[in-house]
Amino acid sequence: MTATAKNEIGHPSIRLLDALIRRPSVTPDDAGCQDMIAARLSALGFHCESMPFGEVTNLWARRGDSSPVLCFAGHTDVVPPGDEAGWQTDPFEPVVRDGIIYGRGSADMKSGLAAMIVALEEFLDEHPETAGSIALLITSDEEGRARDGTLKVMETLTARGERVDWCVLGEPSSEVALGDIIRIGRRGSLSGMLTVSGVQGHVAYPQLADNPIRRFAPVLSELHAIEWDRGNDSFPPTSFQVVDLQAGIGFPNVTPGELTARFNFRYSTEWDHERLKNRVHELFDAHDIDYELKWHLSGEPFLTSPGRLIDAVSQAVEEKTGKAPRQSTGGGTSDGRFIAPAGTAVVELGPVNASIHKVNEHVRIDDVIALTSMYRRILELTLL
Ligand SMILES: [Zn+2]
Repeated sequence: MTATAKNEIGHPSIRLLDALIRRPSVTPDDAGCQDMIAARLSALGFHCESMPFGEVTNLWARRGDSSPVLCFAGHTDVVPPGDEAGWQTDPFEPVVRDGIIYGRGSADMKSGLAAMIVALEEFLDEHPETAGSIALLITSDEEGRARDGTLKVMETLTARGERVDWCVLGEPSSEVALGDIIRIGRRGSLSGMLTVSGVQGHVAYPQLADNPIRRFAPVLSELHAIEWDRGNDSFPPTSFQVVDLQAGIGFPNVTPGELTARFNFRYSTEWDHERLKNRVHELFDAHDIDYELKWHLSGEPFLTSPGRLIDAVSQAVEEKTGKAPRQSTGGGTSDGRFIAPAGTAVVELGPVNASIHKVNEHVRIDDVIALTSMYRRILELTLL
């Protein structure tokens, strides 16, 4: 091991990341991560408030009373290790090899959390008096149901009139190299659970039965044929995907009495969920089909407008990497969907996401250290 490598492993962000990975915080268990973070923040003068809901642990920490409020947000929970045999090392015993640290949650998103805390320590050490306030919103319910986490904390803050102006979410936004992509919004996600009713019968006597597959087939082909939109400057086109389709009793001479299907829209800001639902119901109602449709909204799309936060994040990345990040709205949903509706500008900047949720999840040590400087620079560019 070279001297440089030793120094890197000794970097405060890497030591904190190591300690966080050692806590097996499989969702929604926080496994003591937030206590450790709160102790560090209290020492910096943050007022730390635990906001538990059900099995979920949340932390709201704030330093200062004035506006604007810059909030770092993230989650301590991780997905289960999965195929243990596929892991070359213990998922909760971090191991460093060739400048890379391996462990569950290393990329998603304990390195983001470690970088935030150390960036705050460095920044406040140099600038104890800042304009505005700094906050952290940390949950243990991002990878699971996501009902008792960021959503509930934001509801609590909104109810007591506490406003967050800017939010930096530490989710792993980068694709190939640190900072190549920042997320400035996310698509909406709306799921439908469909039941089509018919009459079961003998395949040789279709006149005595009512086959729901026959009823649904033309509706499905129309749903597939529709161009929902062409996307816009910030979003790719809205997509409709069937994720599950079942009918039949598994017998060759029996036609089914019921069909069930599940589908999902990932949609742009050209739609909201009410209009999308209405359009789907119009389509079904135009056919002779006996159906029931239940909906689940995971989140409306959001888009952060150009302004000081996006400028600060882009500049912080460009100063470090020499290249302006691409601004994207791709990927799945994130907790940004719960923060943005309060009128908060949300930008996501975090490490490379190539190994997240996989076996042998990892992050480059250099990237964690560089991310720490980027977060610190964002603090300088927004609060000084
Ligand atoms: Zn995550």
